[in-house]
Amino acid sequence: MKKFNIVIAGGGIAGLASAEIFARSGYKVLLLEKNPKLCMEASGSHQKWFHFGSLYSVFSSPRFFQAMLKNIQYLLKYYQGFEGMNLVINREGNPYIEMRENSWFQAQHLIYLLTSTRHPDFFPKKASYLLEYIPKLHQRLFWKYIITKQFLVRHYNLYKYNWSSQKSLNDLLKVEWLQQICLPEVNFSYEQTNLNYDFFQSIKSYDCPMNTENILSDLLCSFLSHDGELWLNATYETYQCKSNKKLIITRNREIVETEKLILAIGRNLNRYLKSSVKLCTVASPLLVVYPPVCSENFVKLTPFVSKTINHIKHNYNGIPYSLIGNGYSSTVEKLKMEEVKKSLYDNAIGTFSGIDSAEISEIYFGYKTEVSKSSKNRGYDSCIKLIDRNVLGVIPGKFSLGFSLAVDIFKIITDKQPSLKIHYSSNSSAKSLISETKHEAIINQYFQQKK
Ligand SMILES: Cc1cc2nc3c(=O)[nH]c(=O)nc-3n(C[C@H](O)[C@H](O)[C@H](O)COP(=O)(O)OP(=O)(O)OC[C@H]3O[C@@H](n4cnc5c(N)ncnc54)[C@H](O)[C@@H]3O)c2cc1C
Repeated sequence: MKKFNIVIAGGGIAGLASAEIFARSGYKVLLLEKNPKLCMEASGSHQKWFHFGSLYSVFSSPRFFQAMLKNIQYLLKYYQGFEGMNLVINREGNPYIEMRENSWFQAQHLIYLLTSTRHPDFFPKKASYLLEYIPKLHQRLFWKYIITKQFLVRHYNLYKYNWSSQKSLNDLLKVEWLQQICLPEVNFSYEQTNLNYDFFQSIKSYDCPMNTENILSDLLCSFLSHDGELWLNATYETYQCKSNKKLIITRNREIVETEKLILAIGRNLNRYLKSSVKLCTVASPLLVVYPPVCSENFVKLTPFVSKTINHIKHNYNGIPYSLIGNGYSSTVEKLKMEEVKKSLYDNAIGTFSGIDSAEISEIYFGYKTEVSKSSKNRGYDSCIKLIDRNVLGVIPGKFSLGFSLAVDIFKIITDKQPSLKIHYSSNSSAKSLISETKHEAIINQYFQQKK
């Protein structure tokens, strides 16, 4: 029987990043994935949006913003050894994206459009003026004096923070409410949208699109180069205890022995967790449009969730296209899903011209698993839970957080620091073991059929 130090079930970003960090640090690791390729589920449905923290700075609780910032710190420390990891710190201590072959990140930062409280959405409609007046007024004041203010102050702190210093990240979270902040506005081509310049303030963020195919293939190459073992089409079924070891049993009745087991099985994790932890899976729609309707990467931020919208321009094998999302997601019930699908489509039609006549305008759903009690109470950060002795369950919360999740699991299990030395040889066949994303598959399929 084969023996391992660590067996990881689930080949999404959580499983792969964890497998890589143990393998590079000298542990004997087996990664099991039930599908024929890696990242065919949530880690193949996302928008490729690398979260630096901007989106999460709007929450009054600093929890999610803090999680994203810690992730940046870990990325800079533990992933420098990868050629493609092109987020670097300049002499002034500011992060920037350096162009490299196999780059992980694109230097096309997302612009945040903060909706002004002069926008008509903040005012009651004539028909229900009296009923809506107080809630709308409350919303207006809260947005103007709390949320927007907090967003601007945290960004101001972010721009002046020196990432080479050893200063605590907590300095970035502090909001001096009386502090007068004036952040430079960036140019934004409003003419490519139906948005009215008068109602928005544009702020450049450090968020950017990520080349997940390069990230995943680098992690996989490092994992394989450090003698990691990958079994595809291998479904983890259960484990049995054998003194202080675990026997891992797959659906095909293969049995291996391990010291530790990590379950990184996304939405399937729920059935293994104790009732004290509640995972919730939400369905989020994304709209794929070809030809692209806009060249800007941006997020329209408003307190009205169904009116937020984001747009990232992607490119697959030389074909540019738009990927549009909003903040609206639902439970996995059919009726609710139809409702959010319609909401996204209506919002997109109202924001951009040309969607209804585009060659491709297709909405797909991805399934996000989060630590939260309900689909209304969202949880965007990572979670590592002890399921049994030597058995951990993990959820990254975001693809972007795969890095800090892996480092944290390593530290929890070994009580040591992961190795900073990464030796790997690029292996062109690694990419063939990784699934394309759903939006790339939609583009690919359309052009294959057209041939
Ligand atoms: C629509 C959408 C948009 C998103 N956009 C972004 C974004 O732009 N940026 C961002 O940072 N995050 C984004 N996210 C979140 C991100 O995609 C997820 O948080 C992340 O991919 C989850 O990774 P995971 O490894 O936990 O899950 P998964 O990718 O689902 O991986 C779990 C793996 O376990 C395997 N598995 C399950 N059961 C078994 C078993 N018994 N045995 C073996 N294998 C098993 C599955 O096949 C799967 O490959 C988005 C998510 C969605 C749905």
